[in-house]
Amino acid sequence: ILALLSIVFLVLSSLLGYYMASRAMEPIMRSFARQREFVADASHELRTPLSVIQSSLEVLESENREGLSDFSRQLIVDLKDEVRMMTGLVGHLLTLARADSGVLQLRKETFDLAILSHQLARTFQTLLAKQAQLFELEVPDTLTVYADAERIKQLLYILLENASKYTPAGGRITLEVSEERKGKEHRVRLAVRDTGIGIAPEQQARIFDRFYRVDKVRSRRIGGTGLGLAIAEWIVQAHEGSIELESELGKGSTFTVFLPSNRKTG
Ligand code: ADP
Repeated sequence: ILALLSIVFLVLSSLLGYYMASRAMEPIMRSFARQREFVADASHELRTPLSVIQSSLEVLESENREGLSDFSRQLIVDLKDEVRMMTGLVGHLLTLARADSGVLQLRKETFDLAILSHQLARTFQTLLAKQAQLFELEVPDTLTVYADAERIKQLLYILLENASKYTPAGGRITLEVSEERKGKEHRVRLAVRDTGIGIAPEQQARIFDRFYRVDKVRSRRIGGTGLGLAIAEWIVQAHEGSIELESELGKGSTFTVFLPSNRKTG
């Protein structure tokens, strides 16, 4: 009887402990949720004034081209850069706040990843040519996947844009898309390879952290938000995939994403 009583006592006390702990956590969880909502609302509200400033600067620039001093013209160019940077930051904050609160849902569809890669390559080729960087695309003729096409595009965009930003002129950027078999499952492999500045081993785990940037001074000059890879990681995890990084300082980096293609062999 004594043993039974002590078991009952133990069960009851652990249940009570669990109940008390979850009650104590409630206000903390509520405050986290409020904070996420606040970030999402603030980012959303900032988008309109930013686009007003952006278009006003464009009007100012085009209408007063002759009347402006060199100094004022340069000021407008700098302001436009800052506004572009802030618009990117606000967009990234909104995405992450929505992802955190579970509002952001994947919209999966069946699409051809090869077509999407060619589209992206066309956009990037002009950008990379401007920076004297070579671009290579290695994709099969066709590769059907079931995923959120917009998010996959965003993911590749982030990785390609980074590859370009952190690779000096004359460097090479490669996008490889392929399908691998793992047991009975197929998985898609997306790799973005660059011959850029590379990332030191001790920094590699941290670059996926929000707002983490390796070299603050250089990063500020290059432009960016420090949120791109955090979003990339969210997109990969939401698809139940994984992302890996291989990098050597001064040699380059390869970001490899594995996604379940959701196509089973018969
Ligand atoms: P950012 O907007 O700064 O590019 P990210 O979250 O996309 O933010 O990347 C975080 C940091 O990781 C960057 O600031 C940069 O220091 C480093 N990084 C990302 N991609 C590369 C790359 N391909 N080569 C070298 N460093 C990179």
